[in-house]
Amino acid sequence: MRPDYRTRFAPSPTGPLHLGHAYSALVAEDRARRSSGAFLLRIEDTDTARCRPEYEAAIHDILGWLGLRWQPPVLRQSDHLARYRAALGTLIDAGLCYPCACSRSDIRAAFSAPQESAGHFGPDDPIYPGTCRGRGMAGMTGGHAVRLDIAKAIALLGDVGQLTVTETGPDRAGVWPLRRGELIDQIGDVVLARRDTGIAAYHLAVVVDDAAQGITEVVRGADIFEATKLHRLLQALLKLPVPDYHHHSLIRDDQGKRLAKRDDARALSKFRADGATPEDIRRLVGL
Ligand code: GLU
Repeated sequence: MRPDYRTRFAPSPTGPLHLGHAYSALVAEDRARRSSGAFLLRIEDTDTARCRPEYEAAIHDILGWLGLRWQPPVLRQSDHLARYRAALGTLIDAGLCYPCACSRSDIRAAFSAPQESAGHFGPDDPIYPGTCRGRGMAGMTGGHAVRLDIAKAIALLGDVGQLTVTETGPDRAGVWPLRRGELIDQIGDVVLARRDTGIAAYHLAVVVDDAAQGITEVVRGADIFEATKLHRLLQALLKLPVPDYHHHSLIRDDQGKRLAKRDDARALSKFRADGATPEDIRRLVGL
């Protein structure tokens, strides 16, 4: 592990934390402790429609109950919107962005057109079919999202195979070079700023904040492994430092089914109310 190890747990206050979150936070804190490093907390609250203050308060409460201690200050993304605007401005000035007026149903409709390759799913959604690609930023209005033109971004960087993701997790440990085809086919033109609020979307905010918090190793679930290639691309475009990544396995239920992020039956607060101890939670997630 790197010297001066720093990692973070970055929940979104869109619901109660469940066993999967506990696993992520405990793995991150264990890794920080073992390398005498720092464990930080970040509240990823840029999705203003879904985030609620009571969920944020509950995150602090339940993590404290679990015995986790983080190095202050807590980073709340909603306190740093200017930082994301600046990063977005850099990408816009480099000519890599376009405004997009498509709604989710427009995108779904494009997929049912016979010439489109349906069935591709990117980090957030179906891969964007490119309907608005080529529009100039001058035509941007309030109802537009901002998308990254990923082919242009790759062209600007040149040989993206020089860019690598260092993975330390249990399943895919190694050094993974980016591949142009994979980025285009499996990630596509992702949203960098939301249509509803104009606020930075997850992929942009996460790379800006991992740099701002000096993170040396990102610990998170394996479901974000593929999106990490996009994060590496954004780090190169924004000239940000590059952490290592540790994608842990996902917690599954007794039937081997992956736990849904919004499975309230697995909420930590429910286990706590039913008399479970923090040690029981550790045992339940296999630590
Ligand atoms: N807010 C994201 C989540 O809860 C964090 C992902 C990450 O750690 O990068 O899934």
